[in-house]
Amino acid sequence: MKYRRILLKLSGEALMGERSYGIDPEILQSIASEVASVVRASVQVAIVVGGGNIWRGRKEAAAQGMDQASADYVGMLATVINALTLQDAIERAGIPTRVQTAIAMQEVAEPYIRRRAIRHLEKGRVVIFGAGSGNPFFTTDTTAALRAAEIDAEVIFKATKVDGVYDADPKTHPQARRYETLSYQDVLTHDLRVMDSTAIALCKENQLPIVVFDLTTPGNIYRVVKGEPIGTVIGQ
Ligand code: UDP
Repeated sequence: MKYRRILLKLSGEALMGERSYGIDPEILQSIASEVASVVRASVQVAIVVGGGNIWRGRKEAAAQGMDQASADYVGMLATVINALTLQDAIERAGIPTRVQTAIAMQEVAEPYIRRRAIRHLEKGRVVIFGAGSGNPFFTTDTTAALRAAEIDAEVIFKATKVDGVYDADPKTHPQARRYETLSYQDVLTHDLRVMDSTAIALCKENQLPIVVFDLTTPGNIYRVVKGEPIGTVIGQ
């Protein structure tokens, strides 16, 4: 395998499959077994999971006339639902896990403690980070960049429904071209919607590469961690 320690960013949408809300059990199981195969190949895996399949702060604040910070706290709790569900699935696939949350809820998960997270990884446990960064006005993409830097991950794998970054939306523009590589600055300058700009800036400052890849093709998590050139690599 090309990497020793990775951070996998799974959006809430990734868990949703073809549904319009919640979690698709088949998708969940296939993600869990792919994560298990990567761990069995001696790669240390940390996961940041989103919550957009249940609740997105900005959208719900607008729709419900809700205070933004309150809506964001609800969003962070949504990520914990996904984290615990994912934990169960990965353990059923035979790999030990720990969930650490940025908002303390000690009855269901450990609090986020950086050194402890690293120790779990060294012992071959998958660490799933829930509740985002614990701060409203942030996203789980930014959390992924933050946690990856903190735990000294070599790379962030951002799982999406498309096989990389395109110069236009490939669903509506059949001529759209996929980039094989991009610089952080390209993403920021052209406002390519890979991750929000806070996340990209954090990766840039810490020289943390991001690989954007398609999760919907079975086996892709293993392939991308092995170092096969699928998706788009953002770096430099
Ligand atoms: N959120 C937050 N702070 C964080 C991470 C997440 O307030 O550090 C909230 C925010 O409302 C966000 C929601 O949690 O909309 C779900 O996260 P996100 O939208 O990043 O999930 P994804 O798009 O990856 O499914």
